[in-house]
Amino acid sequence: MKYFRLSQDAVKALADTYSTPLLVLSLEQIELNYHLLAENMPDVKIYYAVKANPDERIVRRLNAIGGYFDVASDGEMRMLQELNINPDRMVYANPVKTGSGLNVAHDVGVHKFTFDSESEIDKMAAAVPGGTVLLRIRVDNPHALVDLNKKFGALPEEALELLSKAQAAGLDVAGLCFHVGSQSTDDEAYLEALKICRQLFDAAAKRGMNLHILDIGGGFPIPTLTEEPDVAAMASGIYKAVRQFFPDTEIWAEPGRYICGTAVNLITQVIGTKVRNNQQWYFLDDGLYGTFSGVIFDHWDFELETFKTGKKVPSTFAGPSCDSLDIMFRDKPSVPLEIGDLILVPNCGAYTSASATVFNGFAKTQTVVWEEVYEAIQAKLELATAG
Ligand SMILES: *Cc1c(COP(=O)(O)O)cnc(C)c1O
Repeated sequence: MKYFRLSQDAVKALADTYSTPLLVLSLEQIELNYHLLAENMPDVKIYYAVKANPDERIVRRLNAIGGYFDVASDGEMRMLQELNINPDRMVYANPVKTGSGLNVAHDVGVHKFTFDSESEIDKMAAAVPGGTVLLRIRVDNPHALVDLNKKFGALPEEALELLSKAQAAGLDVAGLCFHVGSQSTDDEAYLEALKICRQLFDAAAKRGMNLHILDIGGGFPIPTLTEEPDVAAMASGIYKAVRQFFPDTEIWAEPGRYICGTAVNLITQVIGTKVRNNQQWYFLDDGLYGTFSGVIFDHWDFELETFKTGKKVPSTFAGPSCDSLDIMFRDKPSVPLEIGDLILVPNCGAYTSASATVFNGFAKTQTVVWEEVYEAIQAKLELATAG
């Protein structure tokens, strides 16, 4: 699979036109990613996890092609409401919900929820009586980059009691969900989770509870500096197992990273250079408080394409703010760079701009849509070649 990556000429023309830092979003790539999952997991409802990148152009495009949405807060629900997204297409998939989140869910008409603890049952029963609920099960996965099971998920042995209590509280107990952790590079954890969930579905049936929805969460990976996972093979393998264990169950998935991660390129530029403690330093116009926030929150290592050749030496890359925390990479091999050099950062769409701040007065990096600016950029390139 080839993912969205700007050419050197396009990077230069875009930087000339819009200046830097600049995020370039390909909505075509968003669609391709959605379709790759949809084709390899037919009849699975794909709920895009909005937290990975809440850009409303992504949300609108996914809505237009039949997507569903995983929301986690009052703000995300309000945003989708303003985009006229049907609340039936949303699941409020935060196991611990705020008071205002539950009020907004009631107000917007969101009626599907996940939970993983007893204390959540009364909250939901009071705020959204009769709501449809899925119990989140804990699945441990050493192969994930971000292990969400440290924070969420009920133990399988607690599950039946929690389901019974939710039912007794008048909630519509509909199924189970899990999340194997983000950037999960193989299907083992999914298969293990499916086995656990099958046992729980059967045990619940014996207690007279008809579970009929299984939500297999997110976690689908994107390319890293060293690996390009075959997501088509992974998704079809998972789907095969899903249908083997759950032939008739309604299945949902909640991909975030896979949908948006490869659809965005960052263009940043070198704004300062120095040698400190015998190491070469480069200061960029986007930093840890901006698009590179994923270095901290998402434990991500980004590819920096410089379009230059030369001997690579361990270098430090820092952001533009005055805080000494604002250092993205140390000992990252780099060819020699100068002020004004443009750097392309591919696969920059997930957990990047979503967690950027405006710390120190640096605005959030603007995003243009590649398919909208393509013609103007192309014309500029042709002019440059003609001249
Ligand atoms: C963050 C999150 C997701 C998306 O995870 P990815 O690893 O980005 O696919 C899905 N479901 C829930 C409940 C989440 O919190």
